[in-house]
Amino acid sequence: MKKLFGTNGIRFILGKDFTLKDVLQVGLAIGTFFSKGKCLLGRDVRLTGEVIANTIASALMSTGINVYDIGLITTPALQYLVKKREFDFGIMITASHNPPEFNGIKVIDNDGVEIPPEKEKLIEEIYFTRKFKYANWENVGEFSEMRFLIDEYLDGVLSHINEELISKRKFKVAVDPANSVSVLTTPRLLKRLKCKVLTVNAHLDGTFPGRKPEPRLDNLQTLSEAVIASGADLGVAHDGDGDRAIFVDEKGQVYWGDKTAALIVMDFLERNPGECIVTPVSSSKIIEDVAKKYGGKIIYTKVGSIIVSRMMMKLGAKLGVEENGGIFYGPHLPVRDGTMATALILDILARKETSLSSLLSSLPKYYQVKDKVPCPNELKAKVLKILLSEVSGVKVETIDGVKVWYSDGSWVLARPSGTEPIYRIFSEAKDPQRAKELAENMKEKVLKIISTLKE
Ligand code: MG
Repeated sequence: MKKLFGTNGIRFILGKDFTLKDVLQVGLAIGTFFSKGKCLLGRDVRLTGEVIANTIASALMSTGINVYDIGLITTPALQYLVKKREFDFGIMITASHNPPEFNGIKVIDNDGVEIPPEKEKLIEEIYFTRKFKYANWENVGEFSEMRFLIDEYLDGVLSHINEELISKRKFKVAVDPANSVSVLTTPRLLKRLKCKVLTVNAHLDGTFPGRKPEPRLDNLQTLSEAVIASGADLGVAHDGDGDRAIFVDEKGQVYWGDKTAALIVMDFLERNPGECIVTPVSSSKIIEDVAKKYGGKIIYTKVGSIIVSRMMMKLGAKLGVEENGGIFYGPHLPVRDGTMATALILDILARKETSLSSLLSSLPKYYQVKDKVPCPNELKAKVLKILLSEVSGVKVETIDGVKVWYSDGSWVLARPSGTEPIYRIFSEAKDPQRAKELAENMKEKVLKIISTLKE
């Protein structure tokens, strides 16, 4: 069976690997699967967003679905509104952090979380067999516009934090929404929290002229400079659809997501002892260290935001975190949400009455190395099998790829990518040289196995 859905919805370049006719047929397949009811449809700022959304809307209506078009919105805001307003499902047109030429389709279930793999499979089956069910002329769906619901979403976010305490602090915050839809949410949240708001890359522009849609340590210099120049308390950067948040401290230092995630985990466990924290196997050991120290339990999953969401729902877990800046706050919704993450960080800063840099410097320090090895998709499973027989450590985990733990607390992970013909290598140790060695050794091992298999 061919696949349509990747690890995070359907991704493509319109007109290159996916035509408008393909988009129409995806819409027909989704409409045929749900068969009736109402869909909330939204999109990020990408140039192809409107044409894709309109095509999906027409396809859904022709199968009898009523479409409510909300226009530009972040993925987490759409997800929240799907659940709160009791839509039967939602569709978000976005390619998240991918470059501007990409776009994609995410299907959201009525619980606000992306549909589970079983439902993706059924939609794929309809798509590939072209078994579309059209409505009669008198039963085609209706089209309505829904606007001005951002405050309803922000009300939800604000209900989980101490609005009064934060407002008193009059924080100064710099925001980099990557010229995309977080322009509509985070600055407005901050205004409601009586913060002084400064922005960079904050006009809506689907070419992403300011920086690439993925917030990274190496592309947030403008935000970092804005924080320093304005004397802001912190900065926050989002990805293209607003579900990730990367933070900058008052000194202009940018932190990778697991540092700020550890801070949120620490604060959460202080107030909710004994809870479990869901995180992918690729996350820093900081998360585990902090969870242990504060009496929490770590549940590791495969890499992928939907997998974290679904695991949280299964366990009733209230917090999930990813190293890329994904914070899943269950009491709001078990999906990653960059605006909710911003609210949580401000809540912590307001209660702790200290700077972001001093809070983050109290965390344990680790060094990480991230690398990759090209590997044909058809060899991935064989490589893993051989690799497993060759590695040893104090603990070997096979949740996603193979993760080897050593007695000094360091670890190395080799994981076949779900989307690209590569093996991803991650390592982490207290000492940078040790982290480097672990990654290099693993890389060599994987390369050797691949070359033997190719012979
Ligand atoms: Mg995203």
